Formats: sequence, structure tokens, C-alpha cells
Amino acid sequence: MIDIKSTYSEYIAETYSRNDLVIMKAKGSEAFDENGKRYIDLGAGIAVNILGYCDDEFADAVAKQARTVSHTSNLYYTEPQAHLAKLICEKSGMKKVFFSNSGAEANECAIKAARKYSWDKYGEEAGRNKIICLNHSFHGRTIATISATGQSEYHKYFAPFLPGYVFVEPNDIEAMVAEAKKGDVCAIIAEIIQGEGGVNLLNTNYIKSLQTISEENDLVLIIDEVQTGNGRTGKYFAYQNFDIKPDIVTTAKGLGGGLPIGATLFNDRLANTLTPGTHGSTFGGNPIVCAGAVSIVESIDDKLLDEVKAKSEYIFTNLRQCGGVKSVTGMGLMIGIETDKNAKEIVKLLADRGVLVLTAKTKLRLVPALNIPVGLLKEAIGIMKEVLQ
Ligand code: PLP
Repeated sequence: MIDIKSTYSEYIAETYSRNDLVIMKAKGSEAFDENGKRYIDLGAGIAVNILGYCDDEFADAVAKQARTVSHTSNLYYTEPQAHLAKLICEKSGMKKVFFSNSGAEANECAIKAARKYSWDKYGEEAGRNKIICLNHSFHGRTIATISATGQSEYHKYFAPFLPGYVFVEPNDIEAMVAEAKKGDVCAIIAEIIQGEGGVNLLNTNYIKSLQTISEENDLVLIIDEVQTGNGRTGKYFAYQNFDIKPDIVTTAKGLGGGLPIGATLFNDRLANTLTPGTHGSTFGGNPIVCAGAVSIVESIDDKLLDEVKAKSEYIFTNLRQCGGVKSVTGMGLMIGIETDKNAKEIVKLLADRGVLVLTAKTKLRLVPALNIPVGLLKEAIGIMKEVLQ
């Protein structure tokens, strides 16, 4: 067998600081290294393995589709793409969807659709093309989506950025109104919980005001649910906890259960904005990926969403009472923990004790599989409490 780590350092571009861990085998919320050591995984492939590793129904659906129709391009119709589109529109109350391959691409599509909506309605000369973005946001790593990302560390080295993005502080309604009224804006983009920015949930009033401000100024409200979507907050989408109706919702991560997918969902107003030739993707809507995603979306039912809420409460209650913990933020199974210690060191200590967690800025971040067995969750939180204290 090849030496995995040295082969990585010889042949793979060094864009990641990886944990010193080769995952050889995994099932559900448990992963195993080359020595057979077991880890309880509270990171789930960065919020992707929404039903854990190698869910049986997901694996069967993917394997079956791989032997039926593997790839066709979007020049033809396939059943899994149709099935997934109907399911995800029904879950969200949105009207139409465009499928791509990642969160960044889902946001690229949203930005294009918002600009075209404004161009179609007001004309190019009106100059209504700016997007209002929030400080501390994260929308992806393509040039358009880092231009929309409100964190300077992602910007270093890559200037010049695209024009057409303005930034305001989250939860400052007045600042948002002031930008919205300038007349050169077509959209607002926001995450309900700023994930990479530190797992910070926006204020309820502010979330509701995003819709009002968009309506009053005829802006397209884009909610980025790449990380918060697909059951993570206890509703199918996080915006559904706040009774708002975005114009565009983007999602990715958990939707594919581990296969690459992005989805941009449009409401009535935007449903027919993108027309033939204005957008496309070779792999988007690939039948194998969509067949896997259908099995994932069908499994995210009310029972699972209730489990998410109960597990969330367990984590919040236990960690809030734990010594060394300064704050616990987020919602559902997307949780940030600020401690009095260095987050990266804690990640290492926890991995030594067989628990995998992520970081977000200076916090620890937990985004476990929604179906993590309660026994495993309790075991992992018990270990976390010992380490944090
Ligand atoms: N938007 C949000 C809110 C994210 O959390 C991420 C990834 O972490 C992205 C967009 C980018 O997604 P991807 O890495 O699939 O391009």
C-alpha cells in the first residue's frame, strides 16, 4: 500500500492544514484510522455527512443509479434530477431550482440571477447591480464569492476583487436601510447563522427586517443556506425558523450526503429570470448525485428534525454549564463554543481522546450528523467536558 501522508505531501497542493489522521473506514458518526482507533465525529465532513458516513439507503441509491444512467449532461432529461427538484421545492416552498456542484457555485448562480432580474426590470443604465453583503460572512472561494465574503483573511493575495459588493455590519438595521436606499443595489445576501465567521446567529428582528427592506426597495433577498440547510437547525432550512420568505435560497453541503452538489432555489418572482444560455453547468444535476440527494432529502422528516432539536438542547445545556466555556452560540446542530483555551489545541486534545470537532475563527464548532445516536453524542460531550474543564 502507498504511504498516504508522504504521497499527499509529494503530489497534492498544500492548501489545507490537515489533522494528522488518515480515515480508513467510517460508518454513521464513527470513523477509524489505520490502527483501528475509533473517533466519534462531530464535524461530519464540515457539515456534509448529514446522515453520517455511508448511510445504507444513500449508498444503495448511489450504487443503483451508477449502474442505470451515470451521466448525461443537461442536454437530456433524467429522472433523479426531476425527483430531487420537486422534493426540494416542496420542502422549501420555492418554485424552481438550478443544480450545480458546490456552495460557491450555488451563490455564483444567485448573484447572476439577482443582477439579471434587476437588468431585465430596470435596464442596464439604471446601474442597479450592487449586492449588499455582511461583515464576517462567508460565501465561497471563487473570485465572485470571495468578493462577497466579509472577512479580510480570505482576500489577501487575490486582488483585484470584483466591483459591485458593499458591506454592512450584521444586526445593524439602519446601515442596511441606508445602503438599500442608495438606488444602485439589486440584492442582499446573508447567512442566518454566520458559520465560518464564528457560528453567530443573526438577531431575529434583523432577519425579519431583511425581508421588509428587500420588499420596500425591490431587492432580491438571497439567503445562503449552504451550511445551515437540510435540517441542520431543526427546520429544513434555517430561514423557516423565522417565518421569512427569501427570493433565492442557496444550499449545498448536507444536500448531497457526501457527493458534490449545489442548489439555487428561486421563488415565483425569480423563477424564470435565468433563461437558456444565461447559465449552465456540465455536472450540475448529475443523476448519481441527485439519486443520492433524493435519499437524503426523503430521510429529513419531522421525526429527524425533532431529534435535532432534542440533541441541540442536550449539547447547549451541557456545554453552557461546563467549566472553561465562555459562550455557546448557534442553533440546532450547528454550534460554536468559545472557551478560555486555544481552539486548535483543544481540537488536538479531543482527537487524542477519540472525538473529532472543527473550529470557526477562535471557537470550536460542532456540526454532527443529524442522526448521531444519542449514546455516541453523550459519550463525545462527556469527553469534551473533561477536556474543556
Ligand atoms: N456559503 C457558506 C455559508 C459556507 O459555509 C460555505 C462553505 O463553507 C460556502 C458558501 C462555500 O461552499 P463550497 O465550499 O461548497 O463551495
